[in-house]
Amino acid sequence: MRESQQREWLNNRVNVIVATVAFGMGIDKPDVRFVIHMTLPKSIEAYYQECGRAGRDGEKSICMLFYKIQDAFTLMSLIKTKKKIGMDKFVVSKNNVSENQEETLLAIAKFCENVSDCRQKMIGQHFQEEHPKSCHGLILCDNCDRLLTYSKFDVTLIAQQVVLGLKEALNGTHKFSIGIIKDILKGSKNKQILENCYNNTFLHGLLKNWNRVNIQKLMHQLIFSKYLAVQFCQNSSGYSNGYLILGPDSNKVCEETFSMFLDVVHNSDEIMPEDLE
Ligand SMILES: [Zn+2]
Repeated sequence: MRESQQREWLNNRVNVIVATVAFGMGIDKPDVRFVIHMTLPKSIEAYYQECGRAGRDGEKSICMLFYKIQDAFTLMSLIKTKKKIGMDKFVVSKNNVSENQEETLLAIAKFCENVSDCRQKMIGQHFQEEHPKSCHGLILCDNCDRLLTYSKFDVTLIAQQVVLGLKEALNGTHKFSIGIIKDILKGSKNKQILENCYNNTFLHGLLKNWNRVNIQKLMHQLIFSKYLAVQFCQNSSGYSNGYLILGPDSNKVCEETFSMFLDVVHNSDEIMPEDLE
Protein backbone atom coordinates (compact mmCIF):
# COMPACT_ATOMS: atom_id res chain seq x y z
CA MET A 1 0.00 0.00 0.00
CA ARG A 2 2.64 2.47 1.07
CA GLU A 3 4.86 1.62 -1.87
CA SER A 4 2.08 2.03 -4.42
CA GLN A 5 1.11 5.41 -2.92
CA GLN A 6 4.71 6.49 -2.98
CA ARG A 7 5.09 5.39 -6.60
CA GLU A 8 1.97 7.28 -7.63
CA TRP A 9 3.32 10.42 -6.03
CA LEU A 10 6.82 10.05 -7.41
CA ASN A 11 5.37 9.67 -10.89
CA ASN A 12 3.20 12.77 -10.49
CA ARG A 13 -0.06 10.82 -10.69
CA VAL A 14 -1.07 12.21 -7.28
CA ASN A 15 -0.10 15.70 -6.16
CA VAL A 16 -0.20 15.49 -2.39
CA ILE A 17 1.16 12.94 0.01
CA VAL A 18 0.53 12.93 3.73
CA ALA A 19 3.08 11.02 5.75
CA THR A 20 5.09 10.88 8.92
CA VAL A 21 8.58 12.33 8.87
CA ALA A 22 10.00 8.82 8.46
CA PHE A 23 8.62 8.83 4.92
CA GLY A 24 10.74 11.77 3.78
CA MET A 25 14.06 10.08 4.34
CA GLY A 26 15.65 8.96 1.13
CA ILE A 27 13.09 10.66 -1.08
CA ASP A 28 14.76 12.56 -3.86
CA LYS A 29 12.02 14.18 -5.90
CA PRO A 30 13.29 17.44 -7.37
CA ASP A 31 9.96 19.19 -7.95
CA VAL A 32 8.37 19.11 -4.48
CA ARG A 33 6.57 22.48 -4.41
CA PHE A 34 5.19 22.44 -0.85
CA VAL A 35 6.34 21.01 2.45
CA ILE A 36 3.71 21.51 5.12
CA HIS A 37 4.27 20.69 8.77
CA MET A 38 1.11 20.16 10.76
CA THR A 39 2.75 20.18 14.18
CA LEU A 40 5.86 21.39 15.94
CA PRO A 41 8.93 19.75 14.34
CA LYS A 42 11.03 17.73 16.72
CA SER A 43 14.14 19.87 16.30
CA ILE A 44 15.66 22.63 14.18
CA GLU A 45 17.86 20.00 12.54
CA ALA A 46 14.82 17.91 11.59
CA TYR A 47 12.92 20.95 10.34
CA TYR A 48 15.84 22.08 8.19
CA GLN A 49 16.25 18.65 6.70
CA GLU A 50 12.53 18.21 6.01
CA CYS A 51 12.21 21.65 4.41
CA GLY A 52 15.21 20.79 2.29
CA ARG A 53 12.97 18.33 0.37
CA ALA A 54 11.32 21.30 -1.32
CA GLY A 55 12.53 22.92 -4.52
CA ARG A 56 15.56 20.84 -5.30
CA ASP A 57 15.12 21.82 -8.93
CA GLY A 58 15.72 25.44 -7.95
CA GLU A 59 12.14 26.51 -8.70
CA LYS A 60 10.05 28.48 -6.22
CA SER A 61 8.70 26.28 -3.41
CA ILE A 62 6.92 26.96 -0.16
CA CYS A 63 7.37 25.53 3.34
CA MET A 64 4.59 26.10 5.85
CA LEU A 65 4.51 25.28 9.51
CA PHE A 66 1.35 25.04 11.59
CA TYR A 67 1.74 24.55 15.31
CA LYS A 68 0.28 25.44 18.68
CA ILE A 69 2.78 26.63 21.22
CA GLN A 70 0.85 24.68 23.85
CA ASP A 71 2.22 21.57 22.08
CA ALA A 72 5.67 22.56 23.32
CA PHE A 73 4.46 22.47 26.92
CA THR A 74 2.76 19.14 26.37
CA LEU A 75 5.97 17.71 24.93
CA MET A 76 7.96 19.20 27.77
CA SER A 77 5.65 17.48 30.20
CA LEU A 78 6.00 14.21 28.30
CA ILE A 79 9.78 14.43 28.34
CA LYS A 80 9.74 15.04 32.03
CA THR A 81 7.42 12.21 32.83
CA LYS A 82 9.40 9.90 30.55
CA LYS A 83 6.42 8.76 28.52
CA LYS A 84 6.62 7.40 25.03
CA ILE A 85 4.56 9.03 22.30
CA GLY A 86 3.97 8.32 18.61
CA MET A 87 6.92 7.64 16.34
CA ASP A 88 6.32 10.75 14.23
CA LYS A 89 6.38 12.95 17.27
CA PHE A 90 8.93 13.53 19.95
CA VAL A 91 10.14 10.08 20.90
CA VAL A 92 11.36 9.74 24.42
CA SER A 93 13.12 6.51 25.19
CA LYS A 94 12.90 5.10 28.67
CA ASN A 95 16.59 5.14 29.38
CA ASN A 96 17.58 8.21 27.49
CA VAL A 97 15.66 11.13 28.87
CA SER A 98 18.31 13.77 28.76
CA GLU A 99 18.73 17.48 29.07
CA ASN A 100 19.32 17.45 25.33
CA GLN A 101 15.76 16.62 24.47
CA GLU A 102 14.54 19.55 26.46
CA GLU A 103 17.18 21.83 24.95
CA THR A 104 16.18 20.67 21.47
CA LEU A 105 12.55 21.36 22.17
CA LEU A 106 13.27 24.80 23.63
CA ALA A 107 15.34 25.69 20.56
CA ILE A 108 12.62 24.80 18.05
CA ALA A 109 9.92 26.48 20.15
CA LYS A 110 12.01 29.65 20.31
CA PHE A 111 12.63 29.48 16.57
CA CYS A 112 8.89 29.18 15.86
CA GLU A 113 7.90 31.96 18.23
CA ASN A 114 10.43 34.41 16.83
CA VAL A 115 8.56 36.55 14.33
CA SER A 116 11.16 39.17 13.53
CA ASP A 117 14.57 37.61 12.89
CA CYS A 118 15.39 36.16 9.51
CA ARG A 119 14.79 32.41 9.64
CA GLN A 120 17.69 31.68 7.30
CA LYS A 121 19.96 33.59 9.65
CA MET A 122 18.55 31.89 12.75
CA ILE A 123 19.21 28.48 11.20
CA GLY A 124 22.74 29.56 10.25
CA GLN A 125 23.31 30.72 13.84
CA HIS A 126 21.92 27.46 15.16
CA PHE A 127 24.45 25.54 13.08
CA GLN A 128 27.13 27.96 14.30
CA GLU A 129 28.02 29.26 10.87
CA GLU A 130 30.67 31.92 11.13
CA HIS A 131 28.75 34.51 9.12
CA PRO A 132 25.14 33.36 8.90
CA LYS A 133 23.39 34.98 5.97
CA SER A 134 19.91 36.44 5.99
CA CYS A 135 17.49 36.51 3.09
CA HIS A 136 19.09 39.75 1.84
CA GLY A 137 15.86 41.31 0.68
CA LEU A 138 14.86 38.37 -1.48
CA ILE A 139 11.92 37.78 0.86
CA LEU A 140 12.47 34.11 1.33
CA CYS A 141 11.21 33.75 4.85
CA ASP A 142 8.01 34.91 6.53
CA ASN A 143 9.89 37.14 8.97
CA CYS A 144 11.72 39.07 6.26
CA ASP A 145 8.36 39.40 4.56
CA ARG A 146 6.68 40.95 7.58
CA LEU A 147 9.48 43.25 8.69
CA LEU A 148 7.16 46.21 8.49
CA THR A 149 4.53 44.80 10.80
CA TYR A 150 6.67 43.60 13.68
CA SER A 151 9.12 45.57 15.75
CA LYS A 152 11.57 44.62 18.45
CA PHE A 153 11.14 46.27 21.81
CA ASP A 154 13.62 46.34 24.61
CA VAL A 155 12.06 44.49 27.54
CA THR A 156 15.29 43.95 29.46
CA LEU A 157 14.16 45.75 32.60
CA ILE A 158 10.70 44.21 32.62
CA ALA A 159 12.14 40.71 32.09
CA GLN A 160 14.45 41.25 35.07
CA GLN A 161 11.56 42.42 37.21
CA VAL A 162 9.41 39.44 36.26
CA VAL A 163 12.15 36.89 37.01
CA LEU A 164 13.22 38.54 40.25
CA GLY A 165 9.62 39.12 41.31
CA LEU A 166 8.87 35.47 40.68
CA LYS A 167 11.95 34.43 42.63
CA GLU A 168 10.78 36.44 45.62
CA ALA A 169 7.24 35.09 45.39
CA LEU A 170 8.42 31.49 45.06
CA ASN A 171 10.55 31.90 48.18
CA GLY A 172 7.30 32.58 49.97
CA THR A 173 4.43 30.19 49.82
CA HIS A 174 3.29 31.05 46.31
CA LYS A 175 3.00 28.71 43.40
CA PHE A 176 1.93 29.93 39.96
CA SER A 177 0.38 28.00 37.12
CA ILE A 178 1.24 29.17 33.60
CA GLY A 179 -2.38 30.15 33.15
CA ILE A 180 -2.71 32.38 36.20
CA ILE A 181 0.55 34.31 35.80
CA LYS A 182 -0.86 36.33 32.88
CA ASP A 183 -3.79 37.45 35.04
CA ILE A 184 -1.47 38.33 37.91
CA LEU A 185 0.83 40.42 35.72
CA LYS A 186 -2.17 42.10 34.16
CA GLY A 187 -3.39 43.00 37.65
CA SER A 188 -6.65 41.08 37.54
CA LYS A 189 -8.58 40.75 40.78
CA ASN A 190 -10.48 37.61 39.93
CA LYS A 191 -11.54 35.14 42.60
CA GLN A 192 -8.54 32.86 42.24
CA ILE A 193 -6.12 35.77 42.59
CA LEU A 194 -7.79 37.17 45.68
CA GLU A 195 -8.20 33.75 47.33
CA ASN A 196 -4.49 33.02 46.90
CA CYS A 197 -3.43 36.56 47.84
CA TYR A 198 -1.57 36.91 44.54
CA ASN A 199 -2.61 40.57 44.61
CA ASN A 200 -0.09 41.08 47.43
CA THR A 201 2.88 40.04 45.32
CA PHE A 202 5.23 42.37 43.49
CA LEU A 203 4.18 40.75 40.23
CA HIS A 204 0.55 41.79 40.53
CA GLY A 205 -0.21 44.50 37.98
CA LEU A 206 3.42 44.77 36.93
CA LEU A 207 2.31 44.67 33.28
CA LYS A 208 -1.12 46.24 33.68
CA ASN A 209 -0.61 48.36 30.57
CA TRP A 210 0.33 45.42 28.36
CA ASN A 211 -2.11 43.42 26.35
CA ARG A 212 -2.44 39.73 27.20
CA VAL A 213 -0.93 38.51 23.94
CA ASN A 214 2.31 40.33 24.65
CA ILE A 215 2.34 39.17 28.27
CA GLN A 216 2.02 35.60 27.08
CA LYS A 217 4.78 36.10 24.53
CA LEU A 218 7.10 37.51 27.16
CA MET A 219 6.45 34.56 29.47
CA HIS A 220 7.07 32.07 26.66
CA GLN A 221 10.28 33.82 25.71
CA LEU A 222 11.49 33.71 29.32
CA ILE A 223 10.76 29.98 29.42
CA PHE A 224 12.27 29.12 26.02
CA SER A 225 15.37 31.14 26.89
CA LYS A 226 15.71 29.15 30.15
CA TYR A 227 15.35 32.09 32.53
CA LEU A 228 12.17 30.43 33.74
CA ALA A 229 11.06 26.82 33.51
CA VAL A 230 7.93 24.76 33.97
CA GLN A 231 7.51 22.02 36.50
CA PHE A 232 4.78 19.52 35.79
CA CYS A 233 2.80 17.86 38.56
CA GLN A 234 0.09 15.32 38.07
CA ASN A 235 -3.24 16.20 39.64
CA SER A 236 -5.70 13.75 41.18
CA SER A 237 -7.44 13.29 37.80
CA GLY A 238 -4.18 12.18 36.19
CA TYR A 239 -3.64 15.38 34.19
CA SER A 240 -0.40 17.31 34.31
CA ASN A 241 -0.46 20.86 35.60
CA GLY A 242 2.43 23.15 34.71
CA TYR A 243 3.86 25.48 37.36
CA LEU A 244 6.45 28.18 36.86
CA ILE A 245 9.82 27.77 38.53
CA LEU A 246 13.14 29.52 38.04
CA GLY A 247 15.04 28.30 35.01
CA PRO A 248 18.68 27.16 34.91
CA ASP A 249 19.74 30.59 33.59
CA SER A 250 17.62 32.71 35.93
CA ASN A 251 20.66 34.28 37.60
CA LYS A 252 21.84 35.61 34.25
CA VAL A 253 19.14 38.28 34.27
CA CYS A 254 21.24 40.13 36.86
CA GLU A 255 24.34 40.15 34.69
CA GLU A 256 25.35 43.36 32.96
CA THR A 257 25.28 41.69 29.57
CA PHE A 258 21.66 40.56 29.92
CA SER A 259 19.22 41.97 27.42
CA MET A 260 15.91 40.86 26.00
CA PHE A 261 13.82 42.05 23.10
CA LEU A 262 10.24 41.15 22.33
CA ASP A 263 8.68 40.98 18.87
CA VAL A 264 5.57 43.07 18.93
CA VAL A 265 3.01 43.72 16.21
CA HIS A 266 3.35 47.29 15.10
CA ASN A 267 0.19 48.79 13.75
CA SER A 268 -1.82 51.93 14.12
CA ASP A 269 -4.13 50.45 16.76
CA GLU A 270 -1.31 49.92 19.20
CA ILE A 271 0.33 52.50 21.40
CA MET A 272 4.05 51.97 21.18
CA PRO A 273 6.53 51.60 22.64
CA GLU A 274 5.96 52.82 26.22
CA ASP A 275 3.37 50.36 27.34
CA LEU A 276 3.35 47.69 24.59
CA GLU A 277 -0.45 47.84 24.71
ZN1 LIG B 1 14.64 35.96 6.03
